[in-house]
Amino acid sequence: MKPTPPLKKNDDIRLAITAFSALGTGVGRHGGFTVFVDGAVPGDLIDAHIIKLKPTYAVAIVKRIVTPSPDRIVSDCPAAARCGGCSFRALSYDAELRYKKQKVQDALCRIGGLDIPVEEILTTGETARYRNKAQYPLSLGADGKTNIGFYAKKSHRVIDCRDCALQPAAFEKLLGVIARWAAEYGVTIYNEETHKGLLRHIYLRKGFATGETMVCLVATKPALPHTDALITDLLAADGSVCSVILNVNPDKTNVVLGQTCITLFGKDTIEDALCGLRFSISPLSFYQVNPKATELLYGKAAEFAALTGDETVLDLYCGAGTIGLSMAHRAKEIIGVEVIPAAIENAKANAARNGIGNARFLCADAAEAAKQLEAEGLSPDVVILDPPRKGCDESVLAAVAKMAPKRVVYVSCDPATLARDCKRFAALGYKAEKAVAVDLFPRTVHVESVVLITRAGVEATE
Ligand code: SAH
Repeated sequence: MKPTPPLKKNDDIRLAITAFSALGTGVGRHGGFTVFVDGAVPGDLIDAHIIKLKPTYAVAIVKRIVTPSPDRIVSDCPAAARCGGCSFRALSYDAELRYKKQKVQDALCRIGGLDIPVEEILTTGETARYRNKAQYPLSLGADGKTNIGFYAKKSHRVIDCRDCALQPAAFEKLLGVIARWAAEYGVTIYNEETHKGLLRHIYLRKGFATGETMVCLVATKPALPHTDALITDLLAADGSVCSVILNVNPDKTNVVLGQTCITLFGKDTIEDALCGLRFSISPLSFYQVNPKATELLYGKAAEFAALTGDETVLDLYCGAGTIGLSMAHRAKEIIGVEVIPAAIENAKANAARNGIGNARFLCADAAEAAKQLEAEGLSPDVVILDPPRKGCDESVLAAVAKMAPKRVVYVSCDPATLARDCKRFAALGYKAEKAVAVDLFPRTVHVESVVLITRAGVEATE
């Protein structure tokens, strides 16, 4: 028989918060029973009100903080309580860094069964205005006002927040211009439920090193009214706007961007600089959102790759080619693989733009490409893996292991799938040696990490 939970819905309890969950929620134990509390911080003693009861856990809200955690700080964001973006606005940055390093260590240990050293977490120390990209959903409020901002936690309700503390301050002005233009010319706001309306998202991206700004409007139709007026106003508001794009997304989907981009003004791409190289980036191409911290990440990836100039490097999930190209001067050859055609076009142009002649790029699914390259007899010395959150397909790991590289450098934005894949690699004769967390996303629950994985019998620092 299942034990009866020692709690009921609507109970009020005193609770000591002892940990964060993987999603950044405070966790406490009541009579051995787990209670999750949004907004609570380890070290807090709180009065909690139970709002949900499940067989193995409860969910509560903070009624009162009895004794605040020494790691607590006063949130400096007026939207923090409503917005689902930042989990750590009320936590000191030191404590956030400790938590993130531990999160990587715990995932590697619990999911990966690995007891390997996790080096000191890397950070630029900058926790504000570090993002170079924002995708703002829009919605029409019941009062007829257009909300532009972010989704509330665990919902698709848009809260109006035009000056996010993580984004460049200049973005707010651009949102204002677009909102005024939409109101003046009757550009309708998309409604997710009815699938009616034109304007879905506003997507802004800035090259911090160049100052260039891209404005991308995501709409359900391939044409917008009075874009001349919009462009004039955008340029008047911010002279750094050098690209205005219409992205067409007619589908009933949560995916923000559609496949078609129409350039309304200026260039199809913007430029940025990273690790001493120049990169052109299309709206559909992935590009890390925190460029300064990305240099720390790529620096660590290069250190783990330990290239001497003689190596063939396979860069799977290469995006616009950034990681491989940043290592090209220390390799014999770089081969990049990426599934998004626009990103591969960027990668090729980026190699040319930087005078890099020893890099080639394939537009393909990583699993297909890895199998094919393996069948063709490619034997890279080093493989870089940088998959999306869901991690690598098992067939990618199998094909990589068959190619028998000495080292695999696995870059990941999700410690759980990273740990799972390290475990799968272990069964293929590849051993995770060391790891490091890099804080690419201060104030949010997300953390990037890199693991060095070596073939059995190969010295980590060979
Ligand atoms: N290494 C790049 C991009 C990492 S993000 C950088 O540092 O910027 C992950 C990339 O994997 C994205 O560009 C995404 O388009 C690509 N991707 C996702 N699924 C893929 C697949 N099945 N095969 C190849 N690439 C894929």
